[in-house]
Amino acid sequence: MSALSTEFEKSKQQTAVDVSCAFCAGKSMHLVMDFGEVALAGGFLKKDDFASEPKFPLRLFFCEDCYAVQVVDVVDPALLFQNYFYFSSAIRTLREHFVDYAMEACSRFLNPEESTVVEIGCNDGILLKPFADQNVKTLIGVDPASNVIDTIQDPRIHTINDFFGVRVGQQIEKQYGKADLIVANNVYAHIPDINGVTKAVADLLKDDGVFIFEVHYLGKIIESLQYDMVYHEHLYYYSLISLQKHFERFGLCVFDVKPISIHAGSMRYYVAKKDSSHAQKTSTRVEMLAKEELSKGYDRKETYARFRDQVAGRREQLMKLLGDLKKKGRSIAGYGASGRANTIIQYSGITREHIDYMIDDAPAKEGFYTPGSHFEIFSNRRLSEDPPDYLLIFAWGYFNEIAEKCQSYLVSGGRMITPLPEVKVVFVPTKDSDL
Ligand SMILES: [Zn+2]
Repeated sequence: MSALSTEFEKSKQQTAVDVSCAFCAGKSMHLVMDFGEVALAGGFLKKDDFASEPKFPLRLFFCEDCYAVQVVDVVDPALLFQNYFYFSSAIRTLREHFVDYAMEACSRFLNPEESTVVEIGCNDGILLKPFADQNVKTLIGVDPASNVIDTIQDPRIHTINDFFGVRVGQQIEKQYGKADLIVANNVYAHIPDINGVTKAVADLLKDDGVFIFEVHYLGKIIESLQYDMVYHEHLYYYSLISLQKHFERFGLCVFDVKPISIHAGSMRYYVAKKDSSHAQKTSTRVEMLAKEELSKGYDRKETYARFRDQVAGRREQLMKLLGDLKKKGRSIAGYGASGRANTIIQYSGITREHIDYMIDDAPAKEGFYTPGSHFEIFSNRRLSEDPPDYLLIFAWGYFNEIAEKCQSYLVSGGRMITPLPEVKVVFVPTKDSDL
């Protein structure tokens, strides 16, 4: 730990003086938001660790040269991802989503019985398992988080516990050959050496292979004021126009796009080599989306300054609401101890004066404390045993699923607050509505 800490200190010093674009190395970087010194979003901890908890600067920039929106304060991925608390399969919406995903990819691009599929950041196998159910011949999952990848106990799936990059790509090619399909979901925003990984993808892909990745969409972040997507794990916030510039440098192109409602707005990008058959059949959706982005100003720094002002407005509304409720003596718990919660808490300045504790559905988090803010995390049993007056729904992107799950809480008079995209109180009206 102490050796690692020294590394982090070094990286902090470097980023403080040297801000350049991770994609094009350009220097026309404009500050969008500065969150100050922030604890790591995935750094759930025990009481004994409070004093030694590391904090890092968190600043979001826009590159005027290649339009990439990015966090410039890179923290060593070894600390971020080796003990990851995010088990995809714990979320039902995600499970269903990935079954559909595997079926679509197989029918559109693969002859499953002869195909090799590689997943970058395979988590607990939530996508590879449905691919296996489609009888894909060779499945390889790569993930650096050993506690998550080790849960894939499935003989149909080969696992590599490592960071994907040129070296691991070559290892896969040597052992299994080139890939017909490479998939990466919610990881393409996480990769410090983005150029190295994209190069490894281009190298590992067959000439007519397809690379599909899903990642949160910049447009949704701007439109729904989802500043809570910004944390150290999420280095990049992609628009299509920024990705087109990026992939062009590696002989690749985006040939289709598909908006995905999951995570409160992601985009699925379909990428292939620029002289492949897929590139020749590029969907009109690509051109339409690029035009739309330019018309909305995703290539202009003024757009991001406006975003910053609107986000500050939401913070004021939320803090006023929480302050008013606390003055009335109401109990408030947070729901969903995610990275997004961490960002909202730290940006807004939410403390024990505003909320009392956190509730989370993932059993692995119970008994831990939230990073930075140190709220104790309880399981959702607490909602029936000792319900708070209000639940602040940090996982607001899953609001419908949460409201359904917490129906008895709502019906018995509990209320929910959404922090974004609007600050709102949701409740089931009863005779007693003086809360
Ligand atoms: Zn750039």
